[in-house]
Amino acid sequence: MYRTHTCGELRISDINKEVTLSGWSAIVRDKGALLWIDLRDRYGITQLVLDENYTSKELFETARSVGREFVLQATGTVIERASKTTKIPTGEIEIKVSALKILNASKTPPFTIQDDTDGGDDLRMKYRYLDLRRNAVQKNLIFRSNLAIETRKYLAREGFIEVETPNLIKSTPEGARDFVVPSRMNKGQFYALPQSPQTFKQILMVAGFDKYFQIVKCFRDEDLRADRQPEFTQIDCEMSFVHQEDILNTFEGLTKYLFHQALGITLGDFPRMTYDEAMRRFGSDKPDLRFGMDFVDLKSPADAEFGSGVNFVPAGFPVFDGAESVIAICAPGCAEYSRKQIDELTEWVKRPQIGAKGLVYVRIEADGTPKSSVDKFYSPDDLKVWAERCGAKPGDLLFLICGEDEKTRKQLSELRLEMGTRLGLRKGDDFKPLWVVDFPLLEWDEDENRFFAMHHPFTSPKPGDIVKMESDDRNTLKSMRADAYDLVINGVEIGGGSIRIHDRDLQARNFKLLGFTPEEAEAQFGFLLGAFEYGAPPHGGIAFGFDRLNAVMNGANSIRDFIAFPKNNQGRDMMIDAPDGIKLKQLEELGIRVIV
Ligand code: ASP
Repeated sequence: MYRTHTCGELRISDINKEVTLSGWSAIVRDKGALLWIDLRDRYGITQLVLDENYTSKELFETARSVGREFVLQATGTVIERASKTTKIPTGEIEIKVSALKILNASKTPPFTIQDDTDGGDDLRMKYRYLDLRRNAVQKNLIFRSNLAIETRKYLAREGFIEVETPNLIKSTPEGARDFVVPSRMNKGQFYALPQSPQTFKQILMVAGFDKYFQIVKCFRDEDLRADRQPEFTQIDCEMSFVHQEDILNTFEGLTKYLFHQALGITLGDFPRMTYDEAMRRFGSDKPDLRFGMDFVDLKSPADAEFGSGVNFVPAGFPVFDGAESVIAICAPGCAEYSRKQIDELTEWVKRPQIGAKGLVYVRIEADGTPKSSVDKFYSPDDLKVWAERCGAKPGDLLFLICGEDEKTRKQLSELRLEMGTRLGLRKGDDFKPLWVVDFPLLEWDEDENRFFAMHHPFTSPKPGDIVKMESDDRNTLKSMRADAYDLVINGVEIGGGSIRIHDRDLQARNFKLLGFTPEEAEAQFGFLLGAFEYGAPPHGGIAFGFDRLNAVMNGANSIRDFIAFPKNNQGRDMMIDAPDGIKLKQLEELGIRVIV
């Protein structure tokens, strides 16, 4: 028997027991006549102690030869520790070792296997098996495992059936880029890895499955960021005979259940906000509601209170005069920001990633006097009106960005988040979920001069907007709303879904709007259009990004810490060194000729 107990198990109540433990040597402390080894496994750390006075010379020498990360088996008696620690659950005891076996030696690891390791990202990824030994990473993966189990429990209880859909499917032009797999048996042809099981889950509804789910890998060949991986996991669902309300309720229920089971947190009912309101108030379709700093539109407030056309920016400053929008946020308590701090923020918004032309500020001094970078152009009364519109108090600081409306909102949204971070208003253990609803059906792409589906081509317009699909007018088409929704938590898009089109002709009309010829639609999605001719029920669904959900629930920014074997920013697996070339013979078998 390798062990009688784990390394996280023994307590003061186990004193005098004879035990055997197996694990890795985390730390060896050799104090001459006394030697301690911290033995670690998945469950914890137990201290082993050897005393030259009662240990055989041979045993002591074995212990002395132990290096970091050796695999050991130790037998001994549980004794009370002289110097106890409350830092670990086994901190009151230690094992007086009577036998020690080295099960396997280890090279010195390239970084320390500790919570705050000295290993950089690349090194940790190359030696992921060592990184995964660290408690901090194991904790994340155990959390993830638990979350998947709880998800299955909840959805099974709600009557959902887990169905696996294929990984080798057909490439589709919409959405992100596909990863493709050459076919040996059908030379010159390719499978694609699914970006999501979207069409399959809809087919399952046509087949009468009623409630489907799958915890499923999806693949998208996109540029990578901290919250994106080329392969990622979704909790993917679809339901028949439902309205939007049924789906929101079911998945709000799932989210609340997961927070309660995994974190012991009871979330209240999730607020809802239309896409339009989110863009107006926060310049983002995934606003972080952990803090306020709502946008205040000073030039043409869409605010119902004022109607349109009210302008709080009198002519005088050419930059503002020529701008479509001038929008402000109020940073509470920031009037004391130095010139240097403001200059630094100005440079921050001017970086190409943000792209603002500049940043105007108005300080509200302690006595209420406004002091701004545009004092030359506006009277103190003008500035006071701005302060009042923004609800600014003495000691606050307004930031204004101007320009073309859509861009200005995006830029100010970035600044708002940055200020929220700088002011410590985005706490990892504060959770603010939000449903964003009523997304536009279509999105105009200037470069390609055509409409794209904002969600995906299978999303249904709101019933009242279906008539607009016949219009040739771009603005009418742009104004169409969809039964599409996103779940946002703390500014992170956790998931999204929609009520689908289940009528063949409507689906064909939507493809046409998206620039598909009838032949292209048939070639790409003929199977779905065909299925819609055989009694497709009304249906809808949603998918949650499972990696993101894990990260957000743990207040973490990077999803990589919740994926056992993630890829780096270049899409490389550093441990197995993929992607890699393949042999000429394999290429020949696949009928692929490489032209260099
Ligand atoms: N398949 C969609 C996605 O991956 C989710 C859905 O509409 O259910 O975003």
